Amino acid sequence: MKFSKRAMQVTPSATIQVSSQAKKMIRNGIDVINLGIGEPDFTTPTTIDNEAITAIKNGKTSFYTPASGLPELKQAIADRIQTDYDIHYDTAQISVTTGAKMALYVLMQVLVEQGDEVLLPKPSWVSYHEQVKLAGATPVMVDTDRNFKITTVSLDQAVTATTKLLIINTPQNPTGTVYSEADLKTIGDWAVNHQIIMITDDIYGKLVYNQNRFYSPVQLGGDIAANTILVSGVSKTYSMTGWRIGYIAGNSELIQRVNSVLSHSTGNPATVSQYAAIAALRSDQSDAERMRQAFENRLNTIYPLVQKIPGFDVAVKPEGAFYLFPRITEAMKLAGVSSSAEFVKLLLNEAHVAVVDGDAFGLPGYLRLSYAASLADLKTAVARIDKFMNQFL
Ligand code: PLP
Repeated sequence: MKFSKRAMQVTPSATIQVSSQAKKMIRNGIDVINLGIGEPDFTTPTTIDNEAITAIKNGKTSFYTPASGLPELKQAIADRIQTDYDIHYDTAQISVTTGAKMALYVLMQVLVEQGDEVLLPKPSWVSYHEQVKLAGATPVMVDTDRNFKITTVSLDQAVTATTKLLIINTPQNPTGTVYSEADLKTIGDWAVNHQIIMITDDIYGKLVYNQNRFYSPVQLGGDIAANTILVSGVSKTYSMTGWRIGYIAGNSELIQRVNSVLSHSTGNPATVSQYAAIAALRSDQSDAERMRQAFENRLNTIYPLVQKIPGFDVAVKPEGAFYLFPRITEAMKLAGVSSSAEFVKLLLNEAHVAVVDGDAFGLPGYLRLSYAASLADLKTAVARIDKFMNQFL
C-alpha cells in the first residue's frame, strides 16, 4: 500500500510509545513504574461521573449536538473563563473539540499551509510539531533560556518573512515553566508588532504550585488579546483525559472556520462527555483543588530527591504542570551512553522506570519524568533511578 507523503512524515507520539512499551512490560509481569504518561492518575470526580450517568439515563446519547458543541457547554466554558480569567467571551467565540489536541489540530488546519512557518518553544509538547507538518507548514523551534522560556532575542533569531504563528504553553509541558505576566506582555507585544498570530495552550493553567501564579496572554487585553487564540480543556484539571473535551476561544470569524472543519471531521465530541464537562466546569472546583494540592505535594517531595540523583541536573524547580525535565548529559556520561534515547531505554530495561526522552520534545540530553503517579510509586521510582546511577560512581 502506498501512503500519502503527509502520513509518511508524521513521527508517532513518543509519549504514547513509551507508555505502551511500559504497559506491555507490566502485562508480562515486570514491575515497571510508568512515569512516561501525561495523564493525572486520579479517577474522574464522582459528581462529574454522575452527571454523565444521568445524561445516559435520560437518553441524551442518541443525537448529534452541533459540531462545535452544546450551547450549554459553550456557556459553561464562557462562564468559567469569566470567573478564572475575568474576561468575557460570547458563545459564538467558543468551539468545543475532541480534546485540546483536536483544538490545536483544527487550528493548524484553519490557520497555516505550505510555505508558512510556526514558532514553537524548544522544548515543547510533542504534538505541536507533527500537527504543523500535517497542515503542510514548517515547524521552527525557538531556543529557550535557562528557565526554558522563549525570549524576544530567540524569537528575533527564529522569525522569517513567512512566520505565521507562535504557540505558547504555560505552564509548559515538558518543563513545568510558568510565564509571568511581564514575560507574556513582552512576547505578546513582539507577536503583535510582527503580525504573528499567537495561540496560548492553557491546558495546565489550574496546575500551578507554591505561590506561583498562572497568567494567560488573553488577560492582557487590547491588541495582544485580540491577536491571541485560547486553547484549553478539561483533561488535566479534572482528571478527565478519557472524556476528550477541549475548547477554543477566539474571534467569531475564526470560530466559524473552525466549526466548518469540525463539521466535516470529528463532528461533535461525544454528547455524554459534553454533559460531564458541564458538570466539571460548573462544579465548586474543590475536586480540582484537591488534585492540584496532591500534585504540589508530590513536586515538593520528589524535586529534592531527583536533584540528588548522580548526573541529574534540575537547576530550576518547575512551577506548574506535572513534569520534571532534568538535564542528563552527566548521567549519560556516567552510564556510558551517547544519547538520551539510549539512556531512557536503559532506565526502562534495567531500573524498570519509564520516562520520555527529551528529544521527543526537541531537546535531546534531557528526559521528562511525570509526577502524575502516586507518591509511593514516585518515591520507589526515584530510588530505583538513584540506585541505578550509583552503580556507576
Ligand atoms: N497541550 C498540551 C501541552 C498537553 O500536554 C496535552 C496533553 O498531553 C494536550 C494539549 C492535549 O490534551 P487533551 O487532548 O487531552 O485535551
